[in-house]
Amino acid sequence: MSSTGKIVKVAGPLVVAENMEDSRMFDIVYVSDKKLMGEIIELNEDLASIQVYEETEGIGVGEPVYQSGEPLTVELGPGMIQSIYDGIQRPLNDIYEKAGDFIARGITAAALNRERKWKFEPLSKKGDIVGHGDFLGYVDETEIVKHYIMVPEGVSGEIKSIKAGDFTVEDTVAIIKSENGDVEVTMMQKWPVRKPRPYLNKLTPDMPLFTGQRIIDMLFPIAKGGTACIPGPFGSGKTVIQHQLAKWADAEIIVYIGCGERGNEMTDVLMEFPELVDPKSGVPLMKRTVLIANTSNMPVAAREASVYTGITIAEYFRDMGYSVALMADSTSRWAEAMREISGRLEEMPGEEGYPAYLGARLASFYERAGMVNCLTTTGEQRKGALSVIGAVSPPGGDLSDPVVQATLRVVKVFWSLEAHLAYSRQFPAISWLNSYSLYIENIRDYITEKVHEDYFDLRAEAMKILEKESELEEIVRLVGIDALSGQDRLILLTARMIREDFLHQIAYHEIDTYSSVEKQYKMMSVIIYFYNQADRYLKMNVDIRDIENMKVKDKIARMKYVKDKDIDEIDRIKEDIDKELSSMTEE
Ligand code: ADP
Repeated sequence: MSSTGKIVKVAGPLVVAENMEDSRMFDIVYVSDKKLMGEIIELNEDLASIQVYEETEGIGVGEPVYQSGEPLTVELGPGMIQSIYDGIQRPLNDIYEKAGDFIARGITAAALNRERKWKFEPLSKKGDIVGHGDFLGYVDETEIVKHYIMVPEGVSGEIKSIKAGDFTVEDTVAIIKSENGDVEVTMMQKWPVRKPRPYLNKLTPDMPLFTGQRIIDMLFPIAKGGTACIPGPFGSGKTVIQHQLAKWADAEIIVYIGCGERGNEMTDVLMEFPELVDPKSGVPLMKRTVLIANTSNMPVAAREASVYTGITIAEYFRDMGYSVALMADSTSRWAEAMREISGRLEEMPGEEGYPAYLGARLASFYERAGMVNCLTTTGEQRKGALSVIGAVSPPGGDLSDPVVQATLRVVKVFWSLEAHLAYSRQFPAISWLNSYSLYIENIRDYITEKVHEDYFDLRAEAMKILEKESELEEIVRLVGIDALSGQDRLILLTARMIREDFLHQIAYHEIDTYSSVEKQYKMMSVIIYFYNQADRYLKMNVDIRDIENMKVKDKIARMKYVKDKDIDEIDRIKEDIDKELSSMTEE
């Protein structure tokens, strides 16, 4: 360890120390004899500005600062799944046991349990030539997660020996003969959180991440490896939608970062999340989840770190070839932490006091999402995806807020949750007029091949009808529905079907909570079929009022409750539409 620094100033979570010329940016230091963990965020000759991850109360000028010579890292290995960590990867459950409700300062607890033994099954053998990213073996970490043990960075060569059996994360499972001598490899590796984990190359995200939520999959889909932003006005259903995504999105691993939400909201997440059951396997959702929880009563600097801790863990699972979904709630609180630290550094403020680098920080966070060819050296092909969904909570729900704006510049999907929709019980309260997805072209080939070739034609038709409805609403308000043409009234009728019978989806309903993409396609196909057929009959002078009173509308309204095994029933509604319409011309 290098020389010891000395505190010259304490300003909230920021400490300035002198005699720090040996350190580097983003090195971890321990402040005072209480050993409070901090990170160097500015260096000026021998002066270092340090963001401290714990309360600095009672810390004073003249106290020592110990240098570690290392950046902030996370421990990666078996034991992460089902953990609840704070922003710097201290396991909250262990800390509660050690220190009670309030985290005592300077407390340390290993991120990965050192005593627990895991059954290591080798996938490589003696004599194999391996390098960074290659699989050495795996551990069944939970019933539903195979945790692959990969060769760590900087190690390559021939496997001299490899074991099978029960080991702790510190035990050697393999010895690799490298150029620099033998390396003993364990099941745990470390990674600096601010450095993206490497991959072979990034791919265009061309596969949809189906979520089973109709408004998302059909109208505003996200791709595997994609990015999305979701604003959360209070009571608009942000928590419900995030739980739905965690349960149903086509992802094998969930990383949920609760970043400095009000204390009680975070408690909700901590209480509710562990209770959720993974519908696909029937086991608790936590068995494929890592939770990072920072409440607002934890120091602001730890909040700043938590998004990096979370995304590094998510990348590590992506490297195993998994589809990982990361949810950050809320990135606004992260940005506020940045603002506070920047203010204390007396940096030149940008918009609304946020630092000028706010946009760059957000961009570099979302850039860590993606679909990649994972790093391997054996030629084995492995694709992994990290999808990132960031919630934003602008003050007063104001979307012109700098954090929202900077986020929208980098993410490709926007699900606009709106309070007025929630008030009228239109759930999920995602606006069909203000949301968007820029992945439609990317996933077009996949969907037209795997689902149906006219999938996106239906989508385009539905969007057109919904947009037309919003134009017509104004006219109806002014002059009443009777002044509209039959064609326009048909638009209103169909738009209402789309909203109520398709987009409206109750998270708590046993069947409605999830719709397979085939079912979604069939449902939309029936509604658009209804529209086109009714339009034909209107042109043959059938009265719009008769169409508005058609009995088949009830069947359409009940499509969402059709079980997946019976979805062919939905197709047959088209015959009912034909029958009822043709009876009108016979009369
Ligand atoms: P927020 O987290 O934005 O404050 P919540 O997610 O707690 O809001 O949602 C508020 C309420 O709205 C929920 O308790 C629930 O009754 C209702 N709600 C939201 N989304 C749905 C949905 N998809 N299906 C049914 N009810 C919903």
